[in-house]
Amino acid sequence: TDIVRAVAGDRAEVVGLMGSGVDPHLYKPTRSDVERLLSADVIFYNGLLLEGKMTDSLVRAATAGKKVFAVTELLDERYLLEPEGFHGLYDPHVWMDPAAWAKAVDVVRDKLIEYDPGGEAGYRERAAAYADQLAELDRYAVEVLASVPEPKRVLVTAHDAFNYFGQRFGFEVVGIQGLSTESEAGVRDIERLVDLLVEREIQAVFVESTVSERNINALIAGARARGHSVVIGGELYSDAMGDDETYEGTYLGMIDRNVTAIARALGGEAPERGRLGRLAE
Ligand code: ZN
Repeated sequence: TDIVRAVAGDRAEVVGLMGSGVDPHLYKPTRSDVERLLSADVIFYNGLLLEGKMTDSLVRAATAGKKVFAVTELLDERYLLEPEGFHGLYDPHVWMDPAAWAKAVDVVRDKLIEYDPGGEAGYRERAAAYADQLAELDRYAVEVLASVPEPKRVLVTAHDAFNYFGQRFGFEVVGIQGLSTESEAGVRDIERLVDLLVEREIQAVFVESTVSERNINALIAGARARGHSVVIGGELYSDAMGDDETYEGTYLGMIDRNVTAIARALGGEAPERGRLGRLAE
């Protein structure tokens, strides 16, 4: 939604179906969502099965002749991560790597031009400006995350949304729940992670805006019982942006917030209010 808004400018009315705090893995379209899809001119979705429960509705819209595009379609298979045991299925959380996410901007630009050639110049201009901002964000992330001492580059989160982040910025990434929040973590998963926290002396773990804190709290309690103190390093935006009309409610703000919180909580250096001094206190 955020990319399409940035690239379309005022040439399109852009409606996002999933708002702040909504978990896309579990999201089922309502009847009014389906009506909106069927009355849209162009539909963009993430793809890679992120919106698992929307597949039928997207297929229905495509069958009805709508233009339906996955913004991840230009990503090379050699780039995509194929988690163990998921043959032929890729990790969908590509937006965690701003450099890769720039390819999604290309898809949106090209498809909008195809649909509305009269707006080409504007689409190109706005897409280029947005890509510049992504590049700036990526540079900031590389810099502040490199300030985290190497042994501390371990990111423990509620679910496995940060593998591309780990790949891009050199962090080891551990999610309590798997790639989709549909699978539940068991007692044994929690115990295994408590071992990791204690052995590696990890000082902070992170909660996510779209996932319940229960597992993270169990982890912290487990570590405390073994004499190791761990804090919540902050709430990260994993699968949804922050509230509408806020800086964190944009892609640029959400990633700034994540990167800044991670760097600061794990012993690195980053400005308290982020790259542009715009993060909420
Ligand atoms: Zn996810």
